[in-house]
Amino acid sequence: MLGLMQSQPLLISSLITFAERHHGDGEIVSRRVEGDIHRYTYRELAQRSRQLANALEALGVPQGERVASIAWNGYRHMEMYFGVSGSGRVLHTINPRLHPEQVAWIVNHAEDQVLCFDMTFLPLVQAVHAKCPTVKKWVALCDADKLPADSGIPGLTSYEEWIGAASSTYAWPQIDENSASSMCYTSGTTGNPKGVLYSHRSTTLHAYAAALPDVMNLSARDAVLPVVPMFHVNAWGIPYSAALTGCKVVFPGPALDGKSVYELVEAEGVTFAAGVPTVWQMLLTHVRANGLKFSTLKRTVIGGSACPPAMITAFQEEFGVNVLHAWGMTETSPLGTLCTLKNKHLQLPRAQQELLQQKQGRAICGVDLKIVGGDGKELPWDGKTYGDLLVRGPWILDSYFKGDSPLIKDENGVGWFPTGDVATIDADGFMQITDRSKDVIKSGGEWISSIDIENIAMAHPAVTMAACIGMPHPKWDERPIVAVSLKPGASVTREELLKFYEGKTAKWQIPDDVVFVEAIPLGATGKMLKTKLREQLQGYKLPGL
Ligand code: AMP
Repeated sequence: MLGLMQSQPLLISSLITFAERHHGDGEIVSRRVEGDIHRYTYRELAQRSRQLANALEALGVPQGERVASIAWNGYRHMEMYFGVSGSGRVLHTINPRLHPEQVAWIVNHAEDQVLCFDMTFLPLVQAVHAKCPTVKKWVALCDADKLPADSGIPGLTSYEEWIGAASSTYAWPQIDENSASSMCYTSGTTGNPKGVLYSHRSTTLHAYAAALPDVMNLSARDAVLPVVPMFHVNAWGIPYSAALTGCKVVFPGPALDGKSVYELVEAEGVTFAAGVPTVWQMLLTHVRANGLKFSTLKRTVIGGSACPPAMITAFQEEFGVNVLHAWGMTETSPLGTLCTLKNKHLQLPRAQQELLQQKQGRAICGVDLKIVGGDGKELPWDGKTYGDLLVRGPWILDSYFKGDSPLIKDENGVGWFPTGDVATIDADGFMQITDRSKDVIKSGGEWISSIDIENIAMAHPAVTMAACIGMPHPKWDERPIVAVSLKPGASVTREELLKFYEGKTAKWQIPDDVVFVEAIPLGATGKMLKTKLREQLQGYKLPGL
């Protein structure tokens, strides 16, 4: 027997319709590429999203076809989130930090029909446009008078001129909730990137889940600053959850340095911010160096790579900002787990609470997770046993775009997504990543967590960033070494840093060597690129070999 409730598809357009009707005057503030601050409301966002939908109709882009963006976080990009997806097209957000060859590759693979870009990325578009035959319209996200006369890009139009000519009267189509809504390519450190295709249903469910109190706890009383780029897994879903809650949104545009981010936080009364550790490191360095405080910022979600414990402590103790450590992937929309304490943890001493906060946290309802051994059997939740992390749920990938399904079937025939991460899970369900499986260091038959080794180095006052990798060893198979970059003007010797490890980890886990580098190589989403570091250290030999 079926239930007798109204059947309404879960659609992205319903989020913007809600925001317009119930939070029409809610503010959206953006630092633009031009450097100035732009302000408008959800009402104008909805209106201009409908204009964009009409402009796509006029251009004859069929539903299901891809419309790409290469853009910073800002209001025009947000209009694409709703205008493109809401009208049934698929928004393909491209990471501009990828190599131009890779950008051309994914534009062709996605068969993008329209590509809208911020003027910052004009040189990138100039370099790739001739290699992208599927794109029938190039749009610069700017005013008509900012359009360069001689861009060399055929038919280049300004976004304002393009959507300005379109009507704002538009009825969002009631499409199947399982229709594709947006896509993101994985960063693909090896091989070609893979396309992850989100649906209206997966995105809407994720938007609800992300707003829950034990997740980002978003509400109409918040002012939210997504520093995490809108091309990095949909800014972790914040644009959608923002429309769902009606919170104020503050977009940083291209200015991600500590000073600019701090100024925006203070000027706009930001209560909640989201970003990867490398960005927060810049912010912390700035506020400390200038003796500043946060007057409104209450909490920040940090994920994308392991958040160093020293950062959690600094935010909490020095600035009264609660850090929510989160784990996710492009394939998981991205939120999988987030670290918030349970009632029974509230009485624990601060040091013990911090140990919990270092973990990547508990599964968000909707996501199920488990760890398995080499034989595929589930391992115990004892906080010690580590295994391959598998996840499943309505916003977790089933198959790659034009690709295969990586799912692993369990004994009941249920498919699980293998994350490629190695983790422990404790009795309270707190998951902790020990490594990417390819980064785990195997020494004498035992595993060493590179994240643990990095976290200790990063707790040293002279160190900005640390990357631990395994080096071949004839007796032990592999031994860890740690590459570190130092804070400007700071110094520490190899011996001092190795001594710093004593008492903080088992003796056999202490790295065999320290390599000082100018900077740790970072990938397109701000994560350490260990493959590159290994290349840089080619020819390196462990001491004594
Ligand atoms: P991407 O799909 O490029 O966002 O990368 C996803 C990968 O980033 C995950 O599989 C993890 O290896 C890593 N990652 C994400 N969040 C965290 C975290 N909080 N701690 C450690 N690793 C993380």
